[in-house]
Amino acid sequence: MIADLSKLCLHTITTKPWAIEVAVPKYAAAGVKGITVWRNAIEGRDLAKAQKLIADHGLTVVSLCRGGFFPSPDAAERQRAIDDNKRAIDEAAALGAPHVVLVPGSHPRQPLTVSRAQIRDGIAAVLPHARAAGVKLAIEPLHPMYAGDRSAVNTLRQANDMCDELASPSVGVAVDVYHLWWDSELAQQIQRCGSAGYLFAFHLCDWKTPTLDFLNDRGLMGEGCINLPQIRGWVEAAGFRGFNEVEIFSDLHWAKNQDEFLREIIAAYERHA
Ligand code: ZN
Repeated sequence: MIADLSKLCLHTITTKPWAIEVAVPKYAAAGVKGITVWRNAIEGRDLAKAQKLIADHGLTVVSLCRGGFFPSPDAAERQRAIDDNKRAIDEAAALGAPHVVLVPGSHPRQPLTVSRAQIRDGIAAVLPHARAAGVKLAIEPLHPMYAGDRSAVNTLRQANDMCDELASPSVGVAVDVYHLWWDSELAQQIQRCGSAGYLFAFHLCDWKTPTLDFLNDRGLMGEGCINLPQIRGWVEAAGFRGFNEVEIFSDLHWAKNQDEFLREIIAAYERHA
């Protein structure tokens, strides 16, 4: 069977040991069609050159990762976040990325409700800049284990509610199976997200048991307990036609030969996604 890789996108962070100049030709040669560019991969690079490199290899830029991190008890910090998000929007525009993924942020020294209000206000503050640049913003709800310091938006319902509040065609959601697989409301909230036009992105990996590290022990599809075909089915039934983005942070996988890891990713995508 020839696998259908036409919707396969890789996040540059998934093959972190590779510089973008190495990753792009390797992805293209392997049949990958999309790339989500992490900002660390383009740090200090000429963005026009990076855009050309990606286009010359026939890859579609799916997203820029990442902006967000809006909440702080300190107003100057909140302003710094807003300024940084505007830079991320400019980078996305330069690369031709349709949206910036937002990791919302959270702060341990204030209530989640306050952080959520600051996330909403932060997005509202950068929205005019995003609209002018023709770049959208995708709120990524994060697993509740990150509620203390990375995201006060932890369910798809909360992300959908925030999109309702902001009421802009430029604001939507990135659905990541790692963060949302456990939620009994997931099918219903994916349907709501799609119907409202909020479903901008779909991220794949797996949840390992035990998870050895909160951040850098994500599984390759099939290594864990997430029912990927079921969630992909919900996402597609909700009208999503975009890329399936493989996003894996893993000290174990990064320690491997990345050519071998890329072959494993493609095999796992064919078999489990
Ligand atoms: Zn993600």
